[in-house]
Amino acid sequence: MWKYYMPTAVFFGQGAIQKNTERFEEAGTKALLVTGQRSARVSGALHDVTRALTALGIPHSVFDEVEENPSFETVRQAASKMKKEDCDFVVAIGGGSPLDAGKAIAMLAANDGMSIEDLYGNPEQWQVFHTIAVPTTSGTGSEVTHFAVLTDDEGNKAGLSSRRNFPVTSFLDPSYTVTMNENVTTATALDALCHAVEGELLNAGRNPLISQLAKNSVAMIRDGLGAVISSPEDIQKRADLQYAAMLAGMVIAHTGTSVVHPAGYPLSVHKEVKHGLANAFFLVEVLRNVSRKEERRTNASIEPFASLEALESFLKSYGVYDHTLTITDEEAREWSEAIMKSPHYRRTPGTFTREFFETMYKKVGEK
Ligand code: NAP
Ligand code: ZN
Repeated sequence: MWKYYMPTAVFFGQGAIQKNTERFEEAGTKALLVTGQRSARVSGALHDVTRALTALGIPHSVFDEVEENPSFETVRQAASKMKKEDCDFVVAIGGGSPLDAGKAIAMLAANDGMSIEDLYGNPEQWQVFHTIAVPTTSGTGSEVTHFAVLTDDEGNKAGLSSRRNFPVTSFLDPSYTVTMNENVTTATALDALCHAVEGELLNAGRNPLISQLAKNSVAMIRDGLGAVISSPEDIQKRADLQYAAMLAGMVIAHTGTSVVHPAGYPLSVHKEVKHGLANAFFLVEVLRNVSRKEERRTNASIEPFASLEALESFLKSYGVYDHTLTITDEEAREWSEAIMKSPHYRRTPGTFTREFFETMYKKVGEK
């Protein structure tokens, strides 16, 4: 038996917003637009959303302070603005950071008297305002997942996961992704690649639909990333990457991610490494470890890459191993201990020890 569940209505292609504005009318009466500082504007997405809302006579407020690795404090401030201004739906515009923050804001604002910490306890039971997602990166797949990955007051990342967090609607217009520079394009595409590979590793082929989505996604990123880097303005090539990232999002909505993700989190929160590059750094070594016990399962997860070495040289060609960071022994130990306590550790096949991750952190600055 297997199950597929993805309740988000996806509208994909250029002009997706302009052609489907009734989705805003169905969402509520006043919108809170949740964005980062720049990209929603430069990508053109914010303009398209505000134009559609204005034409429909739907008022809106803007919260444009979502940072990378969005914090509890940002979510608190935006939720308080949402309540004060009587907004009753969220339109989250940007990369995974504004999308995740938007989902959490829609939940925190809908539950009077609750703290964000409370939401992490049994999140399936809370109310949530309607969320519309407009991604401007091709990476996290947050537009089709029920995860909101936030950073707590101590600097630890943790996913708020509730089926109520799925956006009701997602508008995927590849033209919003054209303004990503090469670094952001690469980092986000490699995040999506990790999602597809890690998802299939955990799925081990047991859900055939998810396996299919994962393989399609890996193939499209393998062939499509270089194409976008050499023709960054080509909308069709951008659309292929955006589609691949969405598929990978559908994969992790069913499987979750592996230890690769919590291994990468401290590098992005404390060392400013982009989320996707941080994950990609750990991917091959984690797979090598799993492969010692489960070779066939590991090989299936990276298809159509022919071998771990082929995947490694692909990642190398995008600078995944070119870090010049210093990580102290104390940091390496503390971060490794946190991985061992994560749900990702419990669901990842293979044998992982704290020493494995400490050694990996030591290697970050070495390769
Ligand atoms: P991001 O953190 O949202 O954005 C990274 C940078 O890219 C920001 O400077 C952003 O600018 C810029 N940017 C975004 N779109 C752009 C565009 N079209 N043109 C130019 N610049 C653009 O990046 P992300 O990799 O998409 O998201 C990473 C976050 O998602 C992490 O916190 C990660 O943990 C989370 N995540 C969530 C899921 C999930 O299922 N929910 C899965 C994986 C990862 P602005 O700041 O101006 O917006
Ligand atoms: Zn990710």
